[in-house]
Amino acid sequence: MNGTVDADIVIVGGGLCGLATALALHRKSIRSLVLERSETLRSTGAAILVQANGWRALDQLGVGSTLRQTSLLIQGGKFIPLNDPEAKEIPFGISQEFRCIKRTDLIKALANSLPVGTIHTRCQVLSIELDPLTQFPQLMLSNGSILQAKVVIGCDGVNSAIANMFGLHKTRLLFFSTSVARGFTNYPKGHEYASEFVMMCRDQVQLGRIPVSDTLVYWFITRLWNSQDSTIAKDPVLIRQSLMESMKGYPVEAMDMIRNCKLNSLHLTELKYRPPWDLLFNNFRKGTVTIAGDAMHASGPFIAQGGSASIEDAVVLARCLAQKMQTSSNTKKNMFEEAFDQYLKERKMRIFWLSLHTFLVGKKLDTQSSIVRFIILAFMAVLFRDPDWHSRFDCGKL
Ligand SMILES: Cc1cc2nc3c(=O)[nH]c(=O)nc-3n(C[C@H](O)[C@H](O)[C@H](O)COP(=O)(O)OP(=O)(O)OC[C@H]3O[C@@H](n4cnc5c(N)ncnc54)[C@H](O)[C@@H]3O)c2cc1C
Repeated sequence: MNGTVDADIVIVGGGLCGLATALALHRKSIRSLVLERSETLRSTGAAILVQANGWRALDQLGVGSTLRQTSLLIQGGKFIPLNDPEAKEIPFGISQEFRCIKRTDLIKALANSLPVGTIHTRCQVLSIELDPLTQFPQLMLSNGSILQAKVVIGCDGVNSAIANMFGLHKTRLLFFSTSVARGFTNYPKGHEYASEFVMMCRDQVQLGRIPVSDTLVYWFITRLWNSQDSTIAKDPVLIRQSLMESMKGYPVEAMDMIRNCKLNSLHLTELKYRPPWDLLFNNFRKGTVTIAGDAMHASGPFIAQGGSASIEDAVVLARCLAQKMQTSSNTKKNMFEEAFDQYLKERKMRIFWLSLHTFLVGKKLDTQSSIVRFIILAFMAVLFRDPDWHSRFDCGKL
C-alpha cells in the first residue's frame, strides 16, 4: 500500500477481534481493510478457551463448525486442592458448550474466510487524525502512506494506539500481580486425560489443564509475577525451568507435562487491565472512529472471556453498521456515528460486568490477605451467584 489511498472501513489490527470484525462485515456484504503491523498474522498464547457465548458468536460468523472439528468438547471439570492432602477433589459440571481451540486454528479459520486482499500485513498505523475539511479520519502508516478512511475501528489490542491517540480512555492500564504462563504438551501416542477441565492449586500457584485433541493438551499456570520474570519471559527454556520451580509439591504427571511441553508454544505474560469503571465513564467514539476487543476492554484472562467478548463485539458492530446502512437517511458521517453509538450502547453493560467479574477473580488471586480475599468472595457471592452467567449470554444474530 503506497501513496494516498481511499478506503471506507479500515480495521487497525489483524488479531482475533480485527479479523472477526472484518468477517462479520463481509457476511453483511460490507467491505473492509485490515491493517496488521506484523509480517504475518500472530497467534501468540497457544490456545484459547471458548465458552458457549463465544461459540454462538463464532456460529454467526460461519466458522463454528470448522473449529469444532479440531477441538474436543469438554464435558466436566474438577478442582484439586494440593495444600491439604486430606482435602477432596471438587467436581464441577460444565452444562454448556466449552472447548479449547488452538489460536492458529482460530486465526486461520477467520482469515481464510475473508476475501483476498482484505488483510494487509506490515502496515503499522503510526498516527491518526481527523481531516479538518471532511472530519473523516486519516491514518499515517509506517511505510509513509496516508490512508483516508470514512471509518476506523481500532482492534489493536491492549496497548491500542488508536485509543491512546484519540483519548478514548481516561484511565491508565494497570497490572495484576499475577502472571500467566501458557503452553502445549504433545502426546504422540495419545494422552489418557478425560475431556475435562482440571484446576489444581497449591499456595498461590494454580495449574489449569484442558485437552484440545486426543494428542494435544493445553495448560496454563498462574503465579505471582517476580522481578526476574521480564528476563525469564524472553527465553522458553528459562520459562520452563522457572515453572518447574514454582510447581514444587505438584503431582508427578503435572510436572512431567510441563517438562515435556513444546518449547515454541511457551509464553509468560504479565497481565494488564483497565479498571472496569473505565468502561462506564468513557464514550469510545470520536467522530467515525471507535474501538473493539482488548483495545476497549483489556481485562485479564481470569474468567476466559476476553476473546469471546471480542468476537461478540464484532458481531454486534457489524449488525449495527449494516442496519444503519440500510435504514438511515442521514449523511454518511452521521450514519456511521449512529451505528457506533448503537454498538457501544449494546456492549457497555455486557463488557462492564465481564470486566468486573474478571477483576474480582484476578484480585482474589493477587492478594495474600485472607480478609481481602473474604471481602472479594462476599462481593462475588452477591454479584455473580451464577458462576456461568457470562457464558449464557447470546449476542444475537448477525
Ligand atoms: C494469558 C492470557 C490468556 C487468555 N486466555 C483466554 C481464554 O482462554 N479465552 C478467552 O476468551 N480469552 C482469553 N484471553 C484474552 C484474549 O486473548 C484477548 O481478549 C484477545 O486476544 C483480544 O483480541 P484483540 O484482537 O482485541 O487483540 P490482539 O489479539 O492483541 O490483537 C491486536 C492486533 O493488533 C496489531 N496491532 C497493534 N498495534 C497496531 C498498529 N499500530 N498498527 C497495526 N496493527 C497493530 C497487533 O500486532 C495484533 O495482531 C487471554 C489473554 C491472556 C493475556
